[in-house]
Amino acid sequence: MFRKIEHLGIAVESIEKSLAIYESLLGKSCYKTEIVESEFVKTAFIHVGESKIELLEATHPDSPIAKFLVKKGQGFHHVAFDVDDIESEIARLKKEGFELIHQSAKQGADNKMIAFLHPKSTEGLLVEICQEKKV
Ligand code: ZN
Repeated sequence: MFRKIEHLGIAVESIEKSLAIYESLLGKSCYKTEIVESEFVKTAFIHVGESKIELLEATHPDSPIAKFLVKKGQGFHHVAFDVDDIESEIARLKKEGFELIHQSAKQGADNKMIAFLHPKSTEGLLVEICQEKKV
């Protein structure tokens, strides 16, 4: 089940530069920065009520964020929905005919298991589903 918008992902050239702008905009401080080695990204999170803003910076030229920045520039990158059972949502979405980038959940930032849908099956919108990892 999709439960809420967990976060909005924003692609930036430099977290160091952009964080000041987003902290000023939202009137809140970043609570966590984290590097996700497997995706070649550095992330920074700011709470906004029940949701979050996730800033994404490339750590390598092969990073999907580096490619996105070349094509589209800085700005909105993806919407992430919180789900209660990511593996069953992956199975349901496949059955509904959606194409997934990740065929099963993988480790993401901020203590989450994540999977991305291919934007060509969602009319160009990049969608992430995520589930909080139980400790
Ligand atoms: Zn995300």
